[in-house]
Amino acid sequence: MDTLPPPAAPPEPSGSPCHGGRETFDAAARAAGKTEVMDQLMKDYPRGPHDQPQSMCPAFGSLRVGLRMRRVATILSGSACCVYGLTFTSHFYGAKRTVGYVPFNSETLVTGKLFEDIRDAVHETAKPEDYDAVIITNLCVPTASGVPLDLLPKEINGVRIIGIDVPGFGVPTHAEAKDVLTGAMLRYARNEIEKGPVARPRNYKEARNVCLIGELFPADPVGIGQILAPMGLSAGAQAPCREWRDLYSALDSVAVAALHPFYTASVREFRAAGRNIVGSGPVGVEGTDAWIDAIGKAAGASESERAAARQAVLPAIRGVLAANPIKARITVSGYEGSELLVARLLIEAGAEVPYVGTACPRTEWSDPDREWLLARGCHVQYRASLEQDLAAMLEVKPDLAIGTTPLVQKAKELGWPALYFTNMISARPLFSIAGAASMAGIVAAQTKGRERFGRMVSFFEGVGTPDAAGYGFTEKPVDPPGFRDRQRKLRAAKAKSEEAVGT
Ligand code: SF4
Repeated sequence: MDTLPPPAAPPEPSGSPCHGGRETFDAAARAAGKTEVMDQLMKDYPRGPHDQPQSMCPAFGSLRVGLRMRRVATILSGSACCVYGLTFTSHFYGAKRTVGYVPFNSETLVTGKLFEDIRDAVHETAKPEDYDAVIITNLCVPTASGVPLDLLPKEINGVRIIGIDVPGFGVPTHAEAKDVLTGAMLRYARNEIEKGPVARPRNYKEARNVCLIGELFPADPVGIGQILAPMGLSAGAQAPCREWRDLYSALDSVAVAALHPFYTASVREFRAAGRNIVGSGPVGVEGTDAWIDAIGKAAGASESERAAARQAVLPAIRGVLAANPIKARITVSGYEGSELLVARLLIEAGAEVPYVGTACPRTEWSDPDREWLLARGCHVQYRASLEQDLAAMLEVKPDLAIGTTPLVQKAKELGWPALYFTNMISARPLFSIAGAASMAGIVAAQTKGRERFGRMVSFFEGVGTPDAAGYGFTEKPVDPPGFRDRQRKLRAAKAKSEEAVGT
């Protein structure tokens, strides 16, 4: 594959975050007693070049993890607009569960009454016949105001109470917010295990289980189980878990596969439980080969067992990739954390991938993928901003752009085929034989559409673009005389008066 130079330096990100300013809120949180929380968030989720969120509110990640668990109640404490957006999004994604809310106003926030209201809500919700755990989440304003969730009781009538701070000015992406809650629950479960016997997980198998970290497509654990079987291993509980008892099962694994590489707090708990962590994942031939070796060694599998595992899947993966070659130049960007793995698989299938951007940070668990991609001329951008992803796409001019909604929108405006990462790529198997087969199909279908996209762009040329947009006009609308000039002068006067106040 030809190697392209790395994309030119991208423009600075524009716009301001919804929480009104990271520095201001961070300072407020520290002044209100949250220094330890903010320091830990900074350490676990190092910041990037841009002020997040550029996509959805990060707290959606932890909210979703809680909502997907059986017998777990979820309560939010935050501004009404944030809670509305988060609740709306969770139901849009099919939560079918109640999202609890403790509202506040300036008075309850300042007097500390909000904390009392939260405590009352937690007591009211913590019914053992309904729940194993209650999760209460501080969003931006309560975190910045220092609402002390750590002072809540740890348990009420046998129901675990878990308070977490997930501020947008401390957790850069919704992916990492999943880790905030998963790590907090693993810590709680680990402490329970250390104190004595715990409940037996519902589907517990007496086997040498490997815990899989990451929200995976349902077929993926099955495919990974096939890889593990010849080594006497099984695909065990996944983290994030679906039920409280699964946390015990996850901690009981013989090894842990950090398939999604941004679960820093969760890995800390697994390490505290003495578990070996393995990065990367079984994608393509080379990726699967290396992963079998790493996970086999971490779980104590012998050389012959690892060879048997290779023999069981590698010829089939090789065959599938050879039968479905991808001949296209592709850029990959997203915020799911699996972007590097997707790029690896595409390259192994024959694609040219000059750029991969991920909103997630660099961690040691994606290092094998990063090194493999760099060796093949791919520019890897951690903490990529939308501006960087767009700049790379415009420079590379790919046959297919895989990315986030605004990137896909831009590509389609240009008449370039594009795929939305979250809905189209994450909603498919990625690992082992099934992953190799599924990726080729969707890429081939999309890249064939380039010529059609080009025709559509020329057909609709000029329609719906700013000045001519809208319905009900027989000809291009005309501005009222002098309108733009007056607005320009008003803006200039406003800017000048603000400048005067500042000096
Ligand atoms: S909680 Fe913070 S980051 Fe999330 S929507 Fe509200 S202000 Fe924005």
